[in-house]
Amino acid sequence: MQAPESDLTMTSTKVYLGHVITPLSSTEYLDYVSGALVVNSLGKIVDVAPWHELKDKYINDSNVQIIDFGQRLLLPGLVDLHLHLPQVSQTGRSGEHLMAWLNKYIFPAEARFADTNHARKIAHWFFDELASNGTTLAVVFTTIHKAATDAAFEVALNKGSRVIMGKVMMDANSPEALTEDTETSLRESEELAVKWHGQGDGLLLYAFTPRFGVTATPELLAGVGRLFAKHAGTYVHTHLSEAKEEIQFVSTQFPSARSYLDVYKGFGIIGERTVFAHAIHLDDQDIKTVADSRSSLAHCPSSNFFLKSGVFLYQKIRDAGCLFGLGSDVAAGPSMSLFNVMKDANYMQPDIWIEPPELLYRATLGGAEAAHLQHIIGSLTVGKEADFIVVDPSRKSGIVDDILSQPTDEILSSLVFLGDDRLVEATYVRGRCIFQM
Ligand SMILES: [Zn+2]
Repeated sequence: MQAPESDLTMTSTKVYLGHVITPLSSTEYLDYVSGALVVNSLGKIVDVAPWHELKDKYINDSNVQIIDFGQRLLLPGLVDLHLHLPQVSQTGRSGEHLMAWLNKYIFPAEARFADTNHARKIAHWFFDELASNGTTLAVVFTTIHKAATDAAFEVALNKGSRVIMGKVMMDANSPEALTEDTETSLRESEELAVKWHGQGDGLLLYAFTPRFGVTATPELLAGVGRLFAKHAGTYVHTHLSEAKEEIQFVSTQFPSARSYLDVYKGFGIIGERTVFAHAIHLDDQDIKTVADSRSSLAHCPSSNFFLKSGVFLYQKIRDAGCLFGLGSDVAAGPSMSLFNVMKDANYMQPDIWIEPPELLYRATLGGAEAAHLQHIIGSLTVGKEADFIVVDPSRKSGIVDDILSQPTDEILSSLVFLGDDRLVEATYVRGRCIFQM
């Protein structure tokens, strides 16, 4: 076997051989046990099929490099729809409800990002962790600091990571060190969006990132709505209806709004490329608004477990046709591994069973759909960019040695219920290897 390349140069077409599994929908997936994934020099997928169907086409071509992963799995890269870069050092801090936990651990950690050297160091750690967990698209909060956010984008660009990211915006009810002037927050966010949105040939995308309703004035949210409308293709990423105490506070801040979602909607923060994290305590009208507007939800079950925030209305939200995927919500979520989050999404529901193929879909194609990037990533389909991971379930103790010889349903079950970062051998974004064990 040839080792996967790790340099920047891609001069030839590459054929990756392995067990190709890729979701087509929440219930269907393609399954080629002896499959081939063919990627051109631009990082695009040009063929996916059983190897015996493609062998004659590629085997004698001197411009083609064949990389054989044997029985190991080739899966679409994982999509993490919600997590916090500055909190990577704060996982596992003894659980309390949201507001107390923020004040005790998170706000002090974020205040340290005024030191850009510290911020850059943590950004390296963060993007390396993402890659080693097999995450090939992450939707990320940084902190309020412009220089720290610049540094985070620079690190992502250099590592070849794919990210939707933005500077956090907080101008009310925040610790002094994390309270911004409203105009400065809006101006710096716009400068960052202009500088970074679309860089890296589209690997880097910008999200205007008001933290949540608690820490925003009406003027800030109105400004976010204006910037979102003005800068085509950008995102808004924020928290919605996570904890009861938070919701109560927001209702007193914005007494004329019917619900927390209506606060955002009233300022134009709604619709495609709006990502709401958590969205636990929604009523029927809110769920209909999310579905009708094609806004997206980041379901973060591990975090909801940790902070005891409540149970996401999975079945109701799915049946309403809402776009949603999974988020680790590090650091309230203790692990960056989407395999752990898939397991928790099932465990969290007291009454329904979510099948492993659906969980894999939520962490890949479903997440890409929620990010409105399903035409580019999310599945191993001809014409898409080659974001994929190489996975070997037998790397983890507790998973039987011969798992790769078992039926695919059994393999998916072992991934979802026993998987973690130890399973990921290599991670590719747009055909470039960004992590290799
Ligand atoms: Zn969060």
